[in-house]
Amino acid sequence: MTDQLRAVLEALASVNTHPTAAELYELVRVRLPEVSQGTVYRNLRKLIDLGYAIELDSGSGAAHFDACVEPHYHVRCKECGQVADLHLLEGPTPDIPAVRTGADDWVILECRVEYLGLCPTCRDHE
Ligand SMILES: [Zn+2]
Ligand SMILES: [Zn+2]
Repeated sequence: MTDQLRAVLEALASVNTHPTAAELYELVRVRLPEVSQGTVYRNLRKLIDLGYAIELDSGSGAAHFDACVEPHYHVRCKECGQVADLHLLEGPTPDIPAVRTGADDWVILECRVEYLGLCPTCRDHE
């Protein structure tokens, strides 16, 4: 693992705010002031390929990134877009093939559940 790759991973793992690539670049720059945006983005891609990070694809807006690769849920603020971890009190979701109907000839690869809400800051502005 190169120093740059490690710096990107450490920056991402040091926060639980699920930064966008642009926010992560700012975090890495604190450690490596000379680093370029392209280098950070490239190394972020590599971390995902290596399984050290995941990309949260919210469908709209900038993607968020997470160094926690264990399965967990996220809640996204509908106002400002920030993302927080959300842990369910009840066990894991049911086995998808066991409960689904329809699309029987599809191969289901994964199930993504996204919760939407208001973060504490935006909630207080309501
Ligand atoms: Zn918010
Ligand atoms: Zn997360």
